[in-house]
Amino acid sequence: MTLTVAIVGRPNVGKSTLFNRLVGKRLALVDDTPGVTRDRREGEGRLFDLRFRLFDTAGLEDVQDESLEGRMRRQSELAIEEADLVLLMVDARTGLTSTDEIFADQLRRSERPVVVLANKCEGRAAEAGLLEAYSLGLGDPVAFSAEHGLGLEDLYDHLKTAEEAKAAEAGEVVAEPGEKEPDVLQFAVVGRPNVGKSTLINRLLGEERLLTGPEAGITRDSISVEWTYNDRPIRLIDTAGMRRKARVSEKLEKLAVADALRAVQYAHVVILLLDAEEGLERQDLTIANHTIEEGRALVIAINKWDVVKDRDAVIAGVRDRLQRSLPQVKGIPVVTVSGLKGRNLDGLLDAAIDAYDVWNTKVATPDLNRWLHEVEAAHPPPMAHGRRNRLKYISQPKARPPTFTLFCAQPKDLPDSYLRYLENELRHDFELPGTPIRFLLRKSR
Ligand code: GDP
Ligand code: GDP
Repeated sequence: MTLTVAIVGRPNVGKSTLFNRLVGKRLALVDDTPGVTRDRREGEGRLFDLRFRLFDTAGLEDVQDESLEGRMRRQSELAIEEADLVLLMVDARTGLTSTDEIFADQLRRSERPVVVLANKCEGRAAEAGLLEAYSLGLGDPVAFSAEHGLGLEDLYDHLKTAEEAKAAEAGEVVAEPGEKEPDVLQFAVVGRPNVGKSTLINRLLGEERLLTGPEAGITRDSISVEWTYNDRPIRLIDTAGMRRKARVSEKLEKLAVADALRAVQYAHVVILLLDAEEGLERQDLTIANHTIEEGRALVIAINKWDVVKDRDAVIAGVRDRLQRSLPQVKGIPVVTVSGLKGRNLDGLLDAAIDAYDVWNTKVATPDLNRWLHEVEAAHPPPMAHGRRNRLKYISQPKARPPTFTLFCAQPKDLPDSYLRYLENELRHDFELPGTPIRFLLRKSR
């Protein structure tokens, strides 16, 4: 029994971008008889371990012989009729329009479960729009960015809830809340061609000693393998298995990066594998940057350690490059391995599990506020319009990655350099090395 989800919203808010992110290449090509199916795209959506049927009503906008309002009414009627959950997308950068209100009205009256996605929330320009979205009366809007992957965890929670509600309605047994399965850690091994991804994955799976826990064993499908290590269920996303090797090497390089970028979407922790002889190259930085932007934890693994002569120089080279090119994320773990010889595989898995735990860190609000007063006193923010820009309050609404809401008197006047100072201190004082950290700035009254 599959959950059916619809995306609705006025043109240009980002519906197709979200659709493409969730469905990707698995788009089910529906029969394109004009007027019948042109008005929507449908496909199997995936978000982490969830699978659902997703449709996007964007195509309705191309129908010429109807007023915008008429088309929109049809769009939401369709969604209301067919969907278990409706995602109403608004553009937080431009703010609400009367069109958004029309959708909201109709959906509110339908009493269908709705989640408001305040899209394009990746920057500060969206703050006002996000707050406005509360006024739609459809619950707390999710601060979202279809393009940058912000808010996917919140979306996941909503989808999960809807799925459970649907199962309960159908009389299926739902797990008791207290009996939640332990979280499956999703790792992806990515890297350029020939760095040794396949060798490493095969080695990991061939090592009996890495299989521990009560139900130790390996299950494998085309793109992932699952096993238990130190009582932690791990799912490894196998990008190498995602595609047969192509023939042309230049093309192969591009495809490998494209695969990596896609795999990041499904991973909690991205293990970026390097060839020790080559170090950290531009393509690797592209993948590393993307991982951080997507809010995933990152571990760098230098492979082929068995053939390295000057070990200190290799590690120093990689660290130096990280420091210069990704200065915003201090303390990215770097481990050395040999997939071929099976060396330090435990070290690699331990580092990935540590990175996962850091990424899941939730700091208590009182601790955060004590900390805030200390760092503010040590180094106050610059004056704003001749007045002190007081930092009022901080909380952490979510982990994965750690995301903090900071209230201050004049958020627009808080320079980025000051935010970097806060981030560095936070990273240091609450032991959050190597994980992306996000700040949401709010104006306090
Ligand atoms: P649709 O008409 O609702 O399907 O919107 P599209 O998905 O075609 O997106 C409209 C425009 O918004 C495109 O230029 C996208 O690149 C852009 N867009 C989509 N999502 C985001 C986002 O999260 N942030 C920003 N800044 N732009 C976005
Ligand atoms: P992939 O393209 O990233 O999947 O790379 P492969 O796993 O196919 O490995 C590419 C080449 O590197 C093969 O010749 C492997 O034998 C070799 N290789 C992989 N891991 C190691 C290692 O740890 N040490 C050494 N010396 N060679 C390795």
